[in-house]
Amino acid sequence: MPIINDSVVSFHYTVATAEGEHVDKSEEGQPLVYLHGHGQIVPGLEAAMAGRDVGEHIDATITPDQAYGEHEQELDMQVPLEVFPDSIRPEIQPGFRFKAEHPTVAGRDIVFTVHGIEGEQAFVSGNHPLAGKTLQFSVDVVAVRHASPEELSHGHAHGPGGHHH
Ligand code: ZN
Repeated sequence: MPIINDSVVSFHYTVATAEGEHVDKSEEGQPLVYLHGHGQIVPGLEAAMAGRDVGEHIDATITPDQAYGEHEQELDMQVPLEVFPDSIRPEIQPGFRFKAEHPTVAGRDIVFTVHGIEGEQAFVSGNHPLAGKTLQFSVDVVAVRHASPEELSHGHAHGPGGHHH
């Protein structure tokens, strides 16, 4: 069956940047499984998958606005360590994540990641590592089936490669 909304889709993929830098791929024998039409994969890839069928190969070039968003310069910030509460300051290390309001868009929460510490300053970024990147997906559709009522009520796929409870 072709991929429509509420299909459970299994696929193998590789993804690279437009510059040819490897980003990610599915593991041998372990296709990625998702519920189509629920925003579980980047919008551009979901659109490219629609209507495709088992055995089809898809090459898709996805621009940042249809992938992980544009790179926002103002989300790469230098923050004095003193702004963090005393209780969490020891945890402020590279890789630490915290939620804070967007510096210029009131009410929009952003997840920031600490990338480095220098003296009393933390270098943080609210940009996804793939923000601003055009991505090249190479996809093979492995299986397509209807979602069960339970999967639809949960909003995700169950079983191998899907969600386990
Ligand atoms: Zn579930």
